[in-house]
Amino acid sequence: MSEFSSGTLTAKNIHLSFGSNHVLRGIDLHVPKGTTASVIGPSGSGKSTLLRVMNRLIEPDQGDIFLDDRSVLKDNPDELRRRIGMVFQQFNLFPHKTVVQNVSLALSKIRKMPKDQAHAKALEQLDLVGLKHKADARPGNLSGGQQQRVAIARALAMEPEVMFFDEATSALDPELVKGVLALMTDLSKGGMTMVVVTHEMGFSRNVSDTVTFMDGGVVVETGPPDQLFTEPKTDRLKGFLSDVL
Ligand code: ADP
Ligand code: MG
Repeated sequence: MSEFSSGTLTAKNIHLSFGSNHVLRGIDLHVPKGTTASVIGPSGSGKSTLLRVMNRLIEPDQGDIFLDDRSVLKDNPDELRRRIGMVFQQFNLFPHKTVVQNVSLALSKIRKMPKDQAHAKALEQLDLVGLKHKADARPGNLSGGQQQRVAIARALAMEPEVMFFDEATSALDPELVKGVLALMTDLSKGGMTMVVVTHEMGFSRNVSDTVTFMDGGVVVETGPPDQLFTEPKTDRLKGFLSDVL
């Protein structure tokens, strides 16, 4: 996979509170075009919230978000969400629609593509994730790993400039994780700009260009994987790594 029209994503000094809970406390993240940033950290550290703020499912209290050097906070949030594809832990496929319908739906409804064209493009995307032969199946008849690959195909069909993954493999049986990680690795190597929240330390270490360790709503350490995994500077990262590795 290649030839993505990917873009550079930057978040600057993002703050967000839920009531009195100050969840994001001045987050900076810079993801150059064509690179993969993994975000690691304990549960509750604000990783999912950061992704939600960066695609404006939630508005930040403070800070700014840039796509290709232009602030997107004044744009229509729907427009931004079209430019950023998102893949969740729970695949969120429509159970009563076929696999190909799941992929083509947003193309016809949101991109206003004629139905037959949307169908053809959906089949093409399914082929890229190795699931064209499942086009007419219902999601419930696919394995979790296959369903997640359909969810990825659905996001890619919209031709996003950036892809977000929020623990995309956490709900999968161990034997199904590999196929999804292989697809994410292909995307990364193909030049997609990606932000990957993950517990998969192998992926974080071997595939991502930068690793960001969050704890308590702040970025505690960020840098190339070799640096973070072999020379963690803070006790917090050392402790986290000794728990997960
Ligand atoms: P992570 O993804 O790192 O596990 P989250 O971003 O899900 O962390 O959560 C960070 C904090 O924000 C937690 O304290 C969580 O309870 C709180 N939180 C997340 N979403 C909401 C919400 N919609 N309303 C209130 N609190 C929330
Ligand atoms: Mg989360």
